[in-house]
Amino acid sequence: MAPPTASMPPPASAQSAEFLQAADEVMAEMSKLISLPILSPLKKSLRSREEIRAYLLKKMKEDKDADKRYADQKTMEKFGLLPKDYPLEQTLVKVLTEQIAGLYDPDSQEFFIADWTTPADERTVMSHELTHALQDQHFHIDKWSDAAKPNDDAELARDAVLEGSAMAAMVDYQLGGKGGIRDLGDFDPSILMGDVDSSPELSKAPKVLQDELLFPYLAGIRFTQHVLKASSGWPDFYKVFARPPASTQQIMHPELYLQDVEPPKIKLPDAKRSLPAEWKKLDENNMGEFGLQEILKQYLAKDRATQMAASWSADRYAMFENQKDKRTLLVFQIRLASDAAAARFFGAYSELLELKYDQRTNLMRRPNFFSFDTPQDGVFLRCIGPDCLILESGSRTLFDRLTAEMGWPAGPAAPINPNAPHVHETLLRSPSYAVPGAGLPTRPTALSAR
Ligand SMILES: [Zn+2]
Repeated sequence: MAPPTASMPPPASAQSAEFLQAADEVMAEMSKLISLPILSPLKKSLRSREEIRAYLLKKMKEDKDADKRYADQKTMEKFGLLPKDYPLEQTLVKVLTEQIAGLYDPDSQEFFIADWTTPADERTVMSHELTHALQDQHFHIDKWSDAAKPNDDAELARDAVLEGSAMAAMVDYQLGGKGGIRDLGDFDPSILMGDVDSSPELSKAPKVLQDELLFPYLAGIRFTQHVLKASSGWPDFYKVFARPPASTQQIMHPELYLQDVEPPKIKLPDAKRSLPAEWKKLDENNMGEFGLQEILKQYLAKDRATQMAASWSADRYAMFENQKDKRTLLVFQIRLASDAAAARFFGAYSELLELKYDQRTNLMRRPNFFSFDTPQDGVFLRCIGPDCLILESGSRTLFDRLTAEMGWPAGPAAPINPNAPHVHETLLRSPSYAVPGAGLPTRPTALSAR
């Protein structure tokens, strides 16, 4: 997809023959610039806004099944990234339709250009899109990107390779053969992107959607430039398709990609085993450094959020929903770069939780343990060594079971609060670990689509 541009001129008259010829010319130029031979002739067409809107909707539904889209929305709500019942899909389609100048469809291997793109912008848009087309012919980009599923963090990282390299190739094209992005100093990609405020739909969207939409372009082009500089140029760059980045952390800090620093796998304690049967696991996935930064930014100053997120080392979360009353419950484990970073994270996340829940009772604060009750249930945060565990909308008994499963020692004694009758409502009816009515704990199958 083309990078968002700020201006949205009236529909240009469709000079079809000229457009088709220009696309073939730009394809030939890009093939040379980025060292990828054309393997088959390009399919291409001008598309109206309505056609592009319909295509985007279809694509969005194919890319993630309904369950995963629902889980994502609930997860973003729970982390405080979106207001409750936010019209996420409608907003995404509006924003993308507004922003789009052209797109490459890997399914049909066809290049669409928006019929409102101005002739002046046309060839620049083409240089970006036709980079996707050329890479697709050689590396099958949809399949490559989908291979990261079901890891949302790794999938966003691969998107950043695709969009970032198309942006970098576009810069090479604009330099007209007089050097490339490899020869430039540290690149400020905002000069290519226009101003968010001049795009009405994008500027209205919640910050997390703006950031998520722009991340593949902005962080991706810096990543591509860094890897190009560390290599002998485009032919060498394509090794990234054989050795994809493992996380957004590697995109945000390309030196970690080059040094092969990958996040360790975190095995979450199994909350499902301790929850009554009406609790369904909606998703289990990774936030990554990018996701953590977004969460922190919702409540803390941007500089502090960015700095804190940079000490991310790995994470895993599980999102549950009660099928009777639609309450949700979140288990989030995060590993920081060091014990000291975890101690700083503990302080910052305690603040965040207090800002997030304004009705707090029974508050308990210890050097590495923080909890309070909300009118519905409990919120818990504890750190041991470099690891922190957060439970939102659960009980102390559940939290203790989770930390015991992680091998942590018993936490501080819970204060007795006679005014909190709901504190135990997520407990099992029986004190055993078994799910009522079942001999063995049920294992929910992971939702694998995004
Ligand atoms: Zn693109």
